[in-house]
Amino acid sequence: MYNAESISKTLKGELLQQTGNPGIEHILLDSRKLSFPETSLFIPLVSSRRNAHQYMDELYEKGVSNFIVSEAPAQGKFPKANIILVKDTMAALHTLVASHRLQFHIPVIGITGSNGKTIVKEWLYQLLEKDYNIVRSPKSYNSQIGVPLSVWQMKAEHNIAIFEAGISQPGEMEHLEKIIRPTIGIFTNIGEAHNEGFLNIRQKINEKLVLFSKSELLIYCKDYPVLNECVLNFHNVVGRKEGQDGGLQLFTWSRKTEADLRIISVDKNDNHTRIDALYKNEPIHISIPFVDEGSVENAIHCWALMMHLGIDQSVIRQRMDLLGNIAMRLELKQGINNCSVINDSYNSDLGSLKIALEFLQQQQQHPSRTIILSDILQSGKSDASLYEEVASLLQQKGINKVIGIGKNIFREKKSFQQIISLKSSFFQTTEEFIQQFNPQDFQHETILLKGARIFEFERIGKLLEQKVHQTILEINLSAVSHNVKQYQALLKPGTKLMAMVKAFSYGSGSFEIANLLQFHGVDYLAVAYADEGVELRRTGITMPIMVMNPEPSSFDAILQWNLEPEIYSLHLLQQFEEEVQIAGKTGFPVHIKLDTGMHRLGFEKKDIPELARLLSENPYLKVRSIFSHLAASEDPSKDELTRQQGKHFFEMSHELQKALGYFVIRHIANSAAIQRHPDLQLDMVRLGIGMYGVDSGTEMQEQLRPVSTLKTTVSQVKHLTAGDTVGYGAKWIAKGPAVTATVRIGYADGYPRRLSNGVGKMLVRGQLAPVAGVIAMDMVMLDVTLIPEVTEGDEVIVFGEHLPVQQLAAWAETIPYEILTGISQRVKRVYFEE
Ligand SMILES: *Cc1c(COP(=O)(O)O)cnc(C)c1O
Repeated sequence: MYNAESISKTLKGELLQQTGNPGIEHILLDSRKLSFPETSLFIPLVSSRRNAHQYMDELYEKGVSNFIVSEAPAQGKFPKANIILVKDTMAALHTLVASHRLQFHIPVIGITGSNGKTIVKEWLYQLLEKDYNIVRSPKSYNSQIGVPLSVWQMKAEHNIAIFEAGISQPGEMEHLEKIIRPTIGIFTNIGEAHNEGFLNIRQKINEKLVLFSKSELLIYCKDYPVLNECVLNFHNVVGRKEGQDGGLQLFTWSRKTEADLRIISVDKNDNHTRIDALYKNEPIHISIPFVDEGSVENAIHCWALMMHLGIDQSVIRQRMDLLGNIAMRLELKQGINNCSVINDSYNSDLGSLKIALEFLQQQQQHPSRTIILSDILQSGKSDASLYEEVASLLQQKGINKVIGIGKNIFREKKSFQQIISLKSSFFQTTEEFIQQFNPQDFQHETILLKGARIFEFERIGKLLEQKVHQTILEINLSAVSHNVKQYQALLKPGTKLMAMVKAFSYGSGSFEIANLLQFHGVDYLAVAYADEGVELRRTGITMPIMVMNPEPSSFDAILQWNLEPEIYSLHLLQQFEEEVQIAGKTGFPVHIKLDTGMHRLGFEKKDIPELARLLSENPYLKVRSIFSHLAASEDPSKDELTRQQGKHFFEMSHELQKALGYFVIRHIANSAAIQRHPDLQLDMVRLGIGMYGVDSGTEMQEQLRPVSTLKTTVSQVKHLTAGDTVGYGAKWIAKGPAVTATVRIGYADGYPRRLSNGVGKMLVRGQLAPVAGVIAMDMVMLDVTLIPEVTEGDEVIVFGEHLPVQQLAAWAETIPYEILTGISQRVKRVYFEE
């Protein structure tokens, strides 16, 4: 067990203050993820944008007493804390975990490469869990922060470790190598595509190879010529020398030339692929339940590793046959009786349980949180202490109800029953639970389904999830987080961020997005109408919310729910002030909108003196911010107008601010302006469309990830002959033999009717299929004559990663804003996190 004293020695840090010596078990980098205050060590990281030292007060309040800092706090500020001072907290984190790693003498598998790292890691877990007690990276934790958190999980009970490593620029792998120190390496592959921080592909490969500088074995595929060349050069330097111990050995496989594992044939049939190979002149084979090339490559890497570990071919064959899909994402779906359901029934180890619980904890939309949990199948601990730990984790994460399913959890139910705030019930099998299932037992709650695959929790999922109309809008919450971070990185230090969640978050949902933004510490939300704000408050959003169109009829709701109105005219100002006065409130926050050239809403220059007079020393209203809106911030040809607007804004806001005599936030920049007009970032920016993955500038667009995917399915396929017509008005006529697919989306779902007759296209089996005929209310026909084997039930992508919403907007001669916000509410939203 570590404590502040021993850690300080390891780090050669200065133990500024020591008041006790409690044991340290957990490393905490993100103050929002605190679970076990007493045994956590907070290491505040510092980047150009964020300095996590600011969270020390809050964590100290919550009971954290161990800190590693690079900025010494004022003396006596944290009287009961143990504080270690170092130069650089990130370097300290790396050194600490590297030294932790050296305590273990077990096989450690390090995985790097362009694609497949996470799948190879998760498959190895599936393939080896019966033989080993495995510790592995959670999700895709492979960065300078993710890797130390992964390796820190190593404990005495583990007998094999599997970690992935990813880098984005030169110099990073050296750190990861020290932390992971893999004994066995897997280099999955190398993509030609983007080299980002690297000069060229060789530099990128050589940098990745640094991970294996001290390894005993490296598994890789010889069929990537540049990779093979780099590995051989690397091996010349660090390889095993004749007559010596130590040094790197290679284990190669190839589909083309001689190799340790020589792949002879790869045959795909009926959702399975059989792979035949020669190993030490013996013919061997496996079969996997996947047919794509990526899966074949990933499976061969796993195969090679299992052979190296000496696992019997018949065992390998049997397990390969059962390989399962990997839950790369956590999905939030609408459930019965106003519930939300998170279905994560692929595995049930402690690491993935923690991640799922964090996602559950973020959900504020329902008053209570429930987990349906199977036996935890893998961990070296005794059952008693394991379920004890799980129970206290559930308590920490604010879970209200647990339903335990499985013989072990049933046996250890006492651990849960002794927690007063936790309702609990237990069943020996999934079948037993389903037998007594009563839908009425679940009302207005968020339910996490977390179970190992053998418990078949998907059967429970079917009972709890609402049946959906087969057209869905998928929203990638991780992409929203990513996009917000891209803009945050452009902000000058101290600049606040207001997120625009009007119009149902540009069509992407309300509380789901707002929850995420609240979690990410965004400062403000803005909605168009008061009822949107009320909806957010009802679902647990506590951050400040600005309402842009406060109608007098909604003043009541605004006051009652602590929403903050935009005030844009003297008339509105007087009306609202009266209402505040009647309600007996004072200092109610309002936002003053100035018209600097858009000519939509807002005070004009001539109004300022009167406005200043009404607002200064006004006991009822307190101006929280002054703002204006840019008319054409995305358009270089209108930059003069934008500059003019900026200039007017400075003058007008200055005059008003002077009269008020207190600090007021000023803001004018929308998404496009954040990057194009950084001098207009001021005290706060208002991020809208960019958060949803769309920016008009190509440079910015390249850094964003698409957020939503609109997909539907084929309901019927028709074979036509020359002269047959399709759809209303018989506008489309088959010129020869033709095939059409009818899909479940129409203009009532928000698919614009002007995309009729070939103007719009959708992706079917990866190919573009033009719209045939006129778009109907609920249906569209596609011409799939040139796409082979289209069948009923096939997925159809209306827009998404490979068919950007911008393209659809261009076809419809409109803007992405209109397409996104026009997707009707009958299209179910499904949220997921990667
Ligand atoms: C919608 C809106 C924004 C956000 O604009 P984007 O172009 O989507 O970034 C900012 N400010 C106001 C006042 C808005 O109405």
